[in-house]
Amino acid sequence: MTELFVDPNNTSYRPDGVYGKVIDDIKKDGVCPFCPENLTKYHKNPILKEGDFWLLTDNMYPYKGAKHHVLFVHKKHIQRFEEITNEAWSELQDLIRFIIKNRNIEGGAFLFRFGDTALTGASVTHLHANLVSAGSREKDREPIMTRIG
Ligand SMILES: [Zn+2]
Repeated sequence: MTELFVDPNNTSYRPDGVYGKVIDDIKKDGVCPFCPENLTKYHKNPILKEGDFWLLTDNMYPYKGAKHHVLFVHKKHIQRFEEITNEAWSELQDLIRFIIKNRNIEGGAFLFRFGDTALTGASVTHLHANLVSAGSREKDREPIMTRIG
């Protein structure tokens, strides 16, 4: 059985189809796009900060309406919360604080999917977290929507 690194069924949050094509191509390549040896091939945004356990970078395909969509990518290929060490959880807290302060983000959401993509809605199985903010208080602004499950 081939390991599932990406799930093209969960790319509908980008209705223009661009992201779906990218994930289809990665699936054909049969590699994990977030593992360190592959990351720069598929991810062209700079690494904002690198810790012992996580990389911080802007999402290449942010949710519609997001001013900030930052990814926290675990450096080692894991897919479940149970695999995160206490030290890695601690570093994640530090990185969240860093980006909030660095970008002066006044509010947003932190989304962290884990496990089976049929249940999570994730397009990449390699454990990563999303920090998303609309970054404005406009009353008529559309809400940012994403998929879970
Ligand atoms: Zn990986």
